[in-house]
Amino acid sequence: MTVLRPDVTEPDSARGGAAAWRAPDGPHGADDAPARPAPAETSGLVQLHESIATLLASRGQWRQAYQHLRSALDLVYADHDEQPQIPEQLRREVARLRREHAEAREQSMRDSLTASYNRRYLDQRLVSLVAQQCGSPDGLAVALVDLDWFKQVNDTYGHLVGDRVLQRVVELLQDGLPEGAFCARYGGEEFVLVLPGIDAPAAVAVSEAARARVEHYPWGQIVPGLRVTVSVGLAHEPGTSDASGPPVGAEQQLLRADDLLYAAKQSGRNAVAYREGGRVRLAGAAAGRRAISGQRAASY
Ligand code: GH3
Ligand code: MG
Ligand code: MG
Repeated sequence: MTVLRPDVTEPDSARGGAAAWRAPDGPHGADDAPARPAPAETSGLVQLHESIATLLASRGQWRQAYQHLRSALDLVYADHDEQPQIPEQLRREVARLRREHAEAREQSMRDSLTASYNRRYLDQRLVSLVAQQCGSPDGLAVALVDLDWFKQVNDTYGHLVGDRVLQRVVELLQDGLPEGAFCARYGGEEFVLVLPGIDAPAAVAVSEAARARVEHYPWGQIVPGLRVTVSVGLAHEPGTSDASGPPVGAEQQLLRADDLLYAAKQSGRNAVAYREGGRVRLAGAAAGRRAISGQRAASY
């Protein structure tokens, strides 16, 4: 029987896998190709490596433990001329772990109440979209959406109804978004619609349609008497090849949207405010409704 000597303290796996198991000089001599252990021996050696790895890991010697596990794997691979058959149970386990990892990653980007993207995702994505905009002819629009008099909704109907309203508003906001656009919860009862690759008139139309969907939803079906509207501040930046100066940063674009949201609130709520030719305007039916006040809107 071939006797194999494991190098317990420092396995040679990193230097040559299964060759780490050296056959002593035998009938074929020391220069022969390394003898392959019999299956029963391989399995014993694999177990030995695993035991040593467990022991080393329990002492915190992670590198050495890892090397022993590598040696065990090398032995398993060396024992097969072809790729080893992965047992069905292991295959399923790996698939499950992959799925769970993807789900966990997706969840880390989502708001738990509304399932819209969260602030972390918004911040990361917006920065990269602004960077992509450099030298591109495509515009980028950011619409800050705030529920009107939402505190009253909570006070009148309770927080559970308030939560349901937030969920439904997100569905309505997301419903008609163009491809590539997304909705993220900015915080509390405020959401952001990010509309990449869009020109100013299209951004106004998309925002106004979202506002109208919320206004016309039959809220009374949730609880009689309920009415919900949103105000929107829309900031649009043309692509850099159209613009005179450098692109506006993500934070500044959000600040501009916030100022326009203030203007929409000041003008009486349930409206989309945007800038055109340096002037603040209201979209859709609100356009002819009333004059706009709001000194914050004048500061950007
Ligand atoms: P405005 O039209 O000026 O925006 O008035 P508003 O009442 O909507 O604004 P305010 O800032 O006074 O109130 C916001 C409310 O949103 C208060 C807060 O309790 C509520 N809110 C924030 N997050 C949640 C949430 O996750 N669930 C519920 N039910 N309410 C929330
Ligand atoms: Mg608010
Ligand atoms: Mg509000």
